[in-house]
Amino acid sequence: MTIRSISILGATGSVGASTLDLIRREPEQWRVVALTAHSQAADLARLAREFSAEIAVIADESHLPELRAALAGSTVEAVGGPAALVEAAARGADITLAAIVGCAGLAPTMAAIEQGRTVALANKEALVSAGEVMTAAVARSGATLLPVDSEHNAIFQCLHGNDPADVRWITLTASGGPFRDWSIEQLVAATPAQAVKHPNWDMGAKISVDSATMMNKGLELIEAFHLFPVGLERLRIIVHPQSVVHSMVEYRDGSTLAQLGPSDMRVPIASTLAWPRRMTTPCAPLDLAEIGELTFRAPDEIRFPATRLARQAAQAGGAMPAVLNAANEVAVAAFLAGRVGFTRIAAMAEEVLGRYAPSAPTALGDVLAIDGEARARAQELLELV
Ligand code: NDP
Repeated sequence: MTIRSISILGATGSVGASTLDLIRREPEQWRVVALTAHSQAADLARLAREFSAEIAVIADESHLPELRAALAGSTVEAVGGPAALVEAAARGADITLAAIVGCAGLAPTMAAIEQGRTVALANKEALVSAGEVMTAAVARSGATLLPVDSEHNAIFQCLHGNDPADVRWITLTASGGPFRDWSIEQLVAATPAQAVKHPNWDMGAKISVDSATMMNKGLELIEAFHLFPVGLERLRIIVHPQSVVHSMVEYRDGSTLAQLGPSDMRVPIASTLAWPRRMTTPCAPLDLAEIGELTFRAPDEIRFPATRLARQAAQAGGAMPAVLNAANEVAVAAFLAGRVGFTRIAAMAEEVLGRYAPSAPTALGDVLAIDGEARARAQELLELV
């Protein structure tokens, strides 16, 4: 048996917890290098002790004393701050699970990629914002980038062994979120508590709101554009409320390959941890007779304009996906804080996108500068409210 090393960026989150649940089931196969969090120091310390991590990083340095106190007497090194986060990611591990939420995960994810090993990417905002800058770093370093997002993991599996030139369509499935049947009037009044209650998936707050606005699917469209080079015009979205078919690839001979599974992130995470092999998960087998029906329908871009905005941003290319992502992050945070209504999220993103067009980034620093400026412009819109 080969012992493999792993680092988990965003260990205290929903994807982090699912990953650690899998590691916990076969501890003899893994050596944990770095575990990171933003501010949940007690949780991070508990996990670092349980998994005998080499290093625990708290990105918000004001929580470092709490982390140090909680890890006193252990062998775990406790550090804090954004630079320490990047340094920990650059220590390298056989596999790094990039599961920080938002563009905040970009710099550490890039540091992991630069090590030229395997990076399993859940942090879609990083790829959406950095696009070609990240894919160029993957090519340069020789890293293997494995998609964790269930849709992209499904597509990755369906593409395996096939020539991308033979692809007719890649179809991303979308649950449609908790508001898929709501009228525009109902959407205007939607609350944060309603938005984070996803019908099929148990996820962090930000991605749950993205799922409700369909911005999640928009970000995934841009993510797919970078991961699978078949061209934007071959990428499409279909609403599939049961979230059983995680995505599909149709080939030019008329064959469509789909990946099916339970709505449990441990399935795609396990696929990346074991790739190119398989590992056992505790997930219940798929019971299609019990599920009974799988349904599909076209997305409605009048009620949910986010997918249209994302396609436009991807088409424009350059800095525009980073602008879209940053504006959305600010708008989602404002919605969760009760400062703006639900339908203002996509409206704010559209307004920021329409206001300016910075030049295309060529390096990580450019992406971070674009992200910062777009956030400032979105904040300006908030001040007007
Ligand atoms: P959570 O909000 O549950 O967890 C986010 C993690 O990132 C936590 O460990 C958090 O630390 C950390 N974090 C937050 N802000 C920062 C920051 N500024 N700097 C450093 N670390 C930070 O998110 P999810 O697990 O739901 O999602 C993580 C990523 O995976 C997202 O990009 C999401 O889109 C993607 N994804 C998630 C899926 C899911 O099922 N949840 C499915 C597919 C993709 P702390 O706990 O201390 O705040």
